[in-house]
Amino acid sequence: MKKKICLIYTGGTIGMVHSEKGYVPSGEGFLKLLRGLPEFSHPDFPDYETIVFSPLLDSSDMAVTDWNKLGRTIASRYAACDGFVVLHGTDTMAYSASALSFMLENLEKPVIFTGSQIPLYELRSDGRDNLISAMLLAASDKVHEVCIYFGGQLLRGNRSTKLSADGMRAFISPNFPALVNSGINFQFTRVPTRPSPEGAFRLQLFENIPLGVIKVFPGIRFELFENIMTESLKGVVLESFGAGNIPGAQTALLPILQKAHDHGTIIVVRSQCPEGKVNLGSYAASSALKEISAVDGGDMTTEAALAKLYYLFSKGLSSSEIKWLMELNLRGERS
Ligand code: ASP
Repeated sequence: MKKKICLIYTGGTIGMVHSEKGYVPSGEGFLKLLRGLPEFSHPDFPDYETIVFSPLLDSSDMAVTDWNKLGRTIASRYAACDGFVVLHGTDTMAYSASALSFMLENLEKPVIFTGSQIPLYELRSDGRDNLISAMLLAASDKVHEVCIYFGGQLLRGNRSTKLSADGMRAFISPNFPALVNSGINFQFTRVPTRPSPEGAFRLQLFENIPLGVIKVFPGIRFELFENIMTESLKGVVLESFGAGNIPGAQTALLPILQKAHDHGTIIVVRSQCPEGKVNLGSYAASSALKEISAVDGGDMTTEAALAKLYYLFSKGLSSSEIKWLMELNLRGERS
């Protein structure tokens, strides 16, 4: 029997048209264009239904409420459909894919994000292959998690990050192999699987928790961040140098980190290097972070670390439970 795929259009370049101010998302015209593609009436194409978001968004406008809306939409069609394809702007696609990978607990059906660098109505659009391949992969029975299909590769969503503002291979998965490389056929690679679902599908909505991402740089004056780290934010993803190193670890920063820790702010350390992992305590320059029991972000992407913090805080867990779970692999997001 043919699979039924729910195609959700949230906005992004794939469906955009020119306006006086630059590209903007378009609704009805785009759907007409989609339905007119010969592939959509090919006998091997899966059955599909379409859901169009209103308003359509440039993904730079996506917020926690939009992730919740997407989660609710998928949950409402979960029983009726075999898989989901989400058309989404590339700018924050890796954030949304990471968020949904946590939000959709015990997911067993494919949720494949895709989009394009060139709008579908333009002659050289990359949207056509991205969309059609994503639909076929969603109907393949071989994918059971949140992924991004882009530029000939299927990547685990919470391992992905946007690499290129204008290249056709816009995403990489720096610490995890592609799940599929697309050639004449889809080549499924053997990758470590994510932990298996442990119960029935469930939606965990996110709360708009005050979180932050701070990227350290030579000369950073941490005292300028003291207030937000100790009073305003509940969690901080600290993008450190190399394997978890920070400037002033032995001196200026220590009391601020200690204060943040005492205040209950969770500090997750990840590396500014896309490849490799954090290893707190391997250098003296990261020892302060170890002393205040900052979370070792391992090889998680910033997108995944942030989404995981939203998820765990939204579950109402205690600080120590959150810290413990941040260092565990919940959805294949860390090695
Ligand atoms: N600004 C666009 C967006 O993220 C870029 C894209 O779709 O590629 O919605």
